[in-house]
Amino acid sequence: MAWDFSTEPEFQEKLDWARQFVQDKIEPLDILYPHRQFHPLDDELRPIVDPMKQEVRDQDLWAAHLGPELGGKGYGQLKLALLNEILGVSGWAPIVFGTQAPDTGNAEIIAHYGTEEQKKKYLEPLLNGEVFSSYSMTEPQAGSDPQQFTTSAVRDGDEWVINGWKFFSSNARTAAFLIVMVITDPDVSVYKGASMFLVPTGTPGVNIDRHVGLSGESEDQAMHALIHYEDVRVPAENLLGGEGQAFAIAQTRLGGGRVHHAMRTVATCQRALDLLCERVLSRETQGTLLAQKQFIQGDIADSYAELQQFRLLVLYTAWEIDQVKDYRRTRKNIAAIKALTPKVMHDAVWRSMHAHGALGVSNEMPFGGMWLAAPVMSVVDGPTEVHKVTVAREVLKDYQPSPGLWPTAHLPAKREEARQKLAAHIEHVVGNS
Ligand SMILES: Cc1cc2nc3c(=O)[nH]c(=O)nc-3n(C[C@H](O)[C@H](O)[C@H](O)COP(=O)(O)OP(=O)(O)OC[C@H]3O[C@@H](n4cnc5c(N)ncnc54)[C@H](O)[C@@H]3O)c2cc1C
Repeated sequence: MAWDFSTEPEFQEKLDWARQFVQDKIEPLDILYPHRQFHPLDDELRPIVDPMKQEVRDQDLWAAHLGPELGGKGYGQLKLALLNEILGVSGWAPIVFGTQAPDTGNAEIIAHYGTEEQKKKYLEPLLNGEVFSSYSMTEPQAGSDPQQFTTSAVRDGDEWVINGWKFFSSNARTAAFLIVMVITDPDVSVYKGASMFLVPTGTPGVNIDRHVGLSGESEDQAMHALIHYEDVRVPAENLLGGEGQAFAIAQTRLGGGRVHHAMRTVATCQRALDLLCERVLSRETQGTLLAQKQFIQGDIADSYAELQQFRLLVLYTAWEIDQVKDYRRTRKNIAAIKALTPKVMHDAVWRSMHAHGALGVSNEMPFGGMWLAAPVMSVVDGPTEVHKVTVAREVLKDYQPSPGLWPTAHLPAKREEARQKLAAHIEHVVGNS
């Protein structure tokens, strides 16, 4: 009987340390420098952040998503999930712990598909936490349907020449390099004719048209770029993996990324529940605490139960990935948690925000950012609908059509079958009565 929901005491100690560290040392960064995480450290922040990263390393918690060959400890996805449940409350914590998206996924694909030279040039500085990277796949006219992608690369001697537009390339503003998905063979399906290139951000022709922000962000906080790749020349050795391999590579990247978002969402939902409970135990209206109103009790019960369901599926999926070590074989549950993520986050944040009344919707509480994260989670790494379709396809693989006209549970046939199975006994009873 191997089901076990406990955490090893040694790892629990690390989690307890991380929780305290995030609360005591990282939260002040979130409060005072909320939009600086993805900017290279300057003279003001380096003396604060570098020693914190060292403390994380001293605890053996740096880059917890990676195996020992890449500088992590090989904790696996389940332990990473438990850690991300703590880091997910903070914008800065993933940076200080070396586990921030999209760099985690980008590092993973270079580690998996990169040449030794590419690893040295792009992966090493990324893993050291010294540079940022950007993933450039979505185009202005198409995100979830890659068949509409048009950005292409054409071979010219020892170089490839990239032309086209990409949209919402996160952190391109501060990234040292971009991983760009382009069509290299227009004569076959995009799933076989697309390739990936490593492109240093300063390469001539990488023209950032504008930085797009999320709702409420000012222009200088905007981090998602619209990029015009205009005759961008990269040497042939910048091809990542083989020609035509872009989608196989993307799967490696997006599988992990989707689970990591879900792990951090557990943190957001738990925080929303904590804030809800604190509020309703503190606020009175019409003669009782909010906590004594049945509507509010219903909200607490719903938030608690939905969070527990979601968390268990996230942990189970993380455990499943650790077992089979292949995102493709765990795609049903990865897609299921990806589809659940925005909904569970939306409802948990909404209830908590609402219970805080006017204060909840004000800029004096953190709900605005948490709130926006719900619709963001429903499109980032592919919209909910696409993931639901994946879940349904995977579920249906385990089923067959009924063999005849009637469903296998059709009661007249079942009754006849049961009668035949019990015929001897029934005849005996009838004969004796
Ligand atoms: C915060 C953030 C960061 C991002 N970072 C990056 C990044 O770093 N790099 C990058 O390349 N991209 C990035 N993206 C883009 C993201 O991957 C796309 O937004 C996503 O793939 C959806 O594409 P789209 O926005 O073009 O929406 P569309 O594909 O136009 O879809 C719009 C809507 O249509 C509906 N829809 C789509 N497909 C179906 C379907 N099959 N069935 C039913 N309904 C459907 C859904 O409601 C969907 O929300 C980021 C997005 C966000 C919000």
